[in-house]
Amino acid sequence: MDIAAQGCVWTRGGEFLTYGRGMDGATWIGLGTLVAAVVGLSLVGWQLREQRIAMQAEFGNLYIQRYWNIDDDLLLTLKGSEEHRRHRHRYLRLFEDEFDVASLGFLNRQQWRAWHSVLDGQKALDRVKDDLAVCNPDEDEFERLRACIRQREREDAIHGVANCLG
Ligand SMILES: [Zn+2]
Repeated sequence: MDIAAQGCVWTRGGEFLTYGRGMDGATWIGLGTLVAAVVGLSLVGWQLREQRIAMQAEFGNLYIQRYWNIDDDLLLTLKGSEEHRRHRHRYLRLFEDEFDVASLGFLNRQQWRAWHSVLDGQKALDRVKDDLAVCNPDEDEFERLRACIRQREREDAIHGVANCLG
């Protein structure tokens, strides 16, 4: 058989099959099933990706809303009051939640990078450390946030979310 003259060839167990001629019905059905499976899997993959994007957007919006609620409450409350302290505690809780959710991949990476980088600024870092000292003097909460801050102090440098120990 002149293989070159037949065009495409298929090797199976050392034998040559030529598309369209040497293939029997069962082989065609097998090939069709394979193609359907690949298309099906691609669709599932695409759907999962879309769902993940939608979920990340939902979480992102939820956290942005929580942030503004807390920020408004902080502004409207007398500094040094018990109520003000409670809102500072809420802010720490929000931050810790973001660490949790980001670690599960439920936050958009770019968004999390921006929120995490808040601690890159010395002023913001000092404020959060002060919040921690005031709101949780026992140091038994906010494990992830504390781990991130400890890492910054130990390394004396800022770090990205990919290297964060929080
Ligand atoms: Zn970190």
